[in-house]
Amino acid sequence: MTITRLLKKVVYAGYVEAPKWGVSVREGQHEGLISFETYQRIQDNLEGKKRAPAARKDYHVDFPLRGFVACNCCGNAMTAAWSTGKTKRYAYYRCETRGCEEKSKCIPRAKLEDGFEAILRSLAPSKKLFKLARVIFADVWEMRSQQVRSQQAEWKRQLKEAEKQIEELLDRLVDTDTRTVAKKLEERIDRLERQKFVLAEKASKPMPTRARLEECMELALRFLSSPWNIYKNGSYAVKQTVLKLAFAEPPKYCRVNGYGTLETSFPFKVLGSIAGPNYGLCGEMVL
Ligand SMILES: [Zn+2]
Repeated sequence: MTITRLLKKVVYAGYVEAPKWGVSVREGQHEGLISFETYQRIQDNLEGKKRAPAARKDYHVDFPLRGFVACNCCGNAMTAAWSTGKTKRYAYYRCETRGCEEKSKCIPRAKLEDGFEAILRSLAPSKKLFKLARVIFADVWEMRSQQVRSQQAEWKRQLKEAEKQIEELLDRLVDTDTRTVAKKLEERIDRLERQKFVLAEKASKPMPTRARLEECMELALRFLSSPWNIYKNGSYAVKQTVLKLAFAEPPKYCRVNGYGTLETSFPFKVLGSIAGPNYGLCGEMVL
């Protein structure tokens, strides 16, 4: 996949190499980019091998981190709920994994979420990286546009081929006087006509415009400059998207020590996910 190829060139365990963009191999001057392991995991994510779990199954607007933040003890996703005290209701996150030492030990919602807020607030790329991001984004976009263009050309070619075949079959149909042969020919023509219809539809899809690129780039850069702002103001669905984009793996939370070191997939997964004329989150994340 192009993104993978692109990322392989750009990021390698803290080194930057991007001759095409005028950046030579040198130790990453961007503050602590990503480890090789994370890099690999992001590659896997991009290739769809493994996805950071979404909280969709475990939907609850009051607890945006439910199903996402993992228990530090067992590694499984935490759950969350309201519990009723004598006078009022309390919001808690907790691990409910059987056999886990931390099972059913409550963590006040505010504690877990405030800690997370601090991490998300701290995610912001340096100016240099931000600049590079802009170039990468445009490049990814261009590559994907090219893919779409060549795909469309291929569909057009197949469409012509189908038309040619139909012509030939029609000629044979006119010439034949055998009923069974005629029926077979008609069936084949019918199949090809259907195929033609599908191909014509695919081939005529409008190409993404320059304006769309600008729009998506704007969105990606806004995201990069402050995922926290988008998270804070976003709907539940947008929050989930931010979580999936910003973290290479679910953050682990320990009841005693809080969050450990986090592996973020910042900013490359973001760029890869948002850039793309036909797919990506550009349309999904209306902010
Ligand atoms: Zn646990």
